[in-house]
This record gives sequence, structure tokens and C-alpha cells, in this order.
Amino acid sequence: MKKAIKDFYATPAILLNKTRMGHLKTAVANRNADHISSDHYGPASVRNLLEDIYHEKCSYCESTVKQVATLQVEHYRPKNAVSEDASHPGYYWLVLEWSNLLLGCPSCNGQGAKGNKFPIYGSRVMSLNPFDTADNFILQSLRADQSPHFDEQAILLHPEIDDPDDHLKFTKMGEIEGVTERGRGTIEICNLNRDTLFKSRQAIINNFLKQCEIISEGKDKGFLDDAGVEFFLNHQLNLLLQHRDDPKAPYTSFVNYILNHPETCILPRIEPLFQPDFQRAFAKFKQEALN
Ligand SMILES: [Zn+2]
Repeated sequence: MKKAIKDFYATPAILLNKTRMGHLKTAVANRNADHISSDHYGPASVRNLLEDIYHEKCSYCESTVKQVATLQVEHYRPKNAVSEDASHPGYYWLVLEWSNLLLGCPSCNGQGAKGNKFPIYGSRVMSLNPFDTADNFILQSLRADQSPHFDEQAILLHPEIDDPDDHLKFTKMGEIEGVTERGRGTIEICNLNRDTLFKSRQAIINNFLKQCEIISEGKDKGFLDDAGVEFFLNHQLNLLLQHRDDPKAPYTSFVNYILNHPETCILPRIEPLFQPDFQRAFAKFKQEALN
């Protein structure tokens, strides 16, 4: 998961149009949002804005699934039910709320992963009417970073409010670990160590280590002198940096973690005799390229 920037005050106008406000009033009256479809909360214009904000990646797992599946406009707070409370009708009043709309891949969003899960530490908001007695729509009352919703103290990290880097770290093999209880909860809710994700992240570090191995072999066989070793290691490190800085590339938070923690992610996994070469090349790369 990666921090995303969304202006909560810039709700797309289409989500606030007369038709949708009418649907929202009906949802509030009926205490359910069953009649509000993805055509209402996720029309092309809204999806496009979310794809820009999330660089066409899943808000939770950073997968670029567009080629093989559709990223779904997804509700951070579930709209139809809450797994943790059978008496809760779901956050039907947030079905069109901009701060509640993320972009989810089918694996993070579906049953077995997030589904309708929304555990919290505080007291749950059971209903809310965003229209006052004069029928004015109070948008502020729906925002994820404001009371009363923020006071629920959600366990699931919100990539537009929280900084996932404060809550999550990685192992040298590419598993995500929680630094905090919310981090651990988020991994569990979205199943962020599922096999496909783990293997995809693992492939990034394994590919880098394979290249280190080839360079090390080149040195052993006398094809590369110290300057050659440094040149090729620097090239590989710059490829990692390019990956990290490509907003549309998958799993950039893991790549960022690798670059900031070479002592745990890289060093223990390369030949002891080659470690000083790597450390020298990394020190220079850090000084010149890494920020
Ligand atoms: Zn996902």
C-alpha cells in the first residue's frame, strides 16, 4: 500500500448531481443503498480520476491489474453490510462519498479478502443523514478524515489519510509485516501476503540478486575489475531506482524499502566475499542518486 494524494474537497461534480442526490435520499430513507449501482458511484469519469490518483494500481496491493482484470471502484467503508456487526446495514450513506471511493483489484476487494470487513477500535456509526432539516447536503459529515467517521478509529489503513510507510515494512523475501497493530490488521483484511503478491514482490528482489550474482561471477572469472563491478552494480541499483520512481510500476513501496534497507534486504543474501564490493557501490550510489 502506498500513500495517495486526493483532494477531499474536489468531489467530482457527477457524484453530487441531482439524480445521485435523489438516490442518496432514498438510501437514507430506506437504510440501504441496494438501488445505487456502480454506474452511479463508479462512472467512467470517476474511475478515470481514481486511476489517475492511483496510477492505475490497486489502492491496497499496488498491483497493476488493468491488463488482466478490471480495477473496481471500491468502498473503503462497505456499503451493504459489515462483517463484524450483523445488525449493521452497511455504510449506505457513504456510497457516493469521494473519500470513501478507492480503486480495488478483485483479489483485494472480493470475498476471502476485504469483502465487507471493516473492523474498528472505537464506536461504530450506525446511521447518518447527510441532509439537514432544510434539505441541505452536509458533505463534511461524510468525510473519512472528519468526525464522526474518523472517530471510529478504523483498523484498515486509508491510503489517502494514513501513511502506510508508518505501519508496514517488508522482509528480505518480500513479505509485508505490520509495524503497528493497524498495519497487521490491514495485511490480514486485504490478504496482502497472498501467494501471487508475495511471489511478484519476491521476483523483484530475486532478479536484483541474480544480477549481483552475475557481476560477482564476472569478477571471480577476471572479466571485471573493481571499476567494472562498480559500474554494473550502479546500473542495477539505478534500475531499482527507476522502478521505485515510476508511478505506474507495481509494488514500488517494496522497492523503496529495499533501497532504504540494503543491510537487511540485500547484504545477507549475497556472497560474503562480494559484500564489500556491494557496500562500496551502494555508498556511492546513495550519495549520487538516492534521496
Ligand atoms: Zn489489490
